[in-house]
Amino acid sequence: MLDCIFCKIVNSQIPSKKIYEDEELLAFHDIHPIARVHFMIIPKIHVDSLERCTAIHQPLLGKMLLLAPKLAKEQGLVNGFRTMINTGHGGGQEVYHLHVHVFGGDASMPRT
Ligand code: AMP
Ligand code: ZN
Repeated sequence: MLDCIFCKIVNSQIPSKKIYEDEELLAFHDIHPIARVHFMIIPKIHVDSLERCTAIHQPLLGKMLLLAPKLAKEQGLVNGFRTMINTGHGGGQEVYHLHVHVFGGDASMPRT
């Protein structure tokens, strides 16, 4: 996707603070963190949103979620963390390339 900011990060066309990379996934710090630690996990392939995922994406989604606790611990979130997947306009999604937010590390986390 030529116009997708996260595809550009995957292709190193724009910089990011990467914390993890493998053949399928990339993780990097959010540019506008909402907590002391805030990063996101994205697939390298372009998928618009969770709404666009099908059974084909099931292993990829599982891999993204299982990576969250591993990276959270590495980033110092030893007491837990929050995950968030904003989906579509109603879900407040701004970047239409699937991503899982992982954040935490502040004294308290508001209940949702
Ligand atoms: P949302 O689509 O609502 O889940 O939000 C997209 C998130 O991407 C926001 O938290 C932004 O701060 C973040 N973001 C946008 N551009 C960049 C970038 N170039 N590098 C890192 N994070 C970004
Ligand atoms: Zn993309």
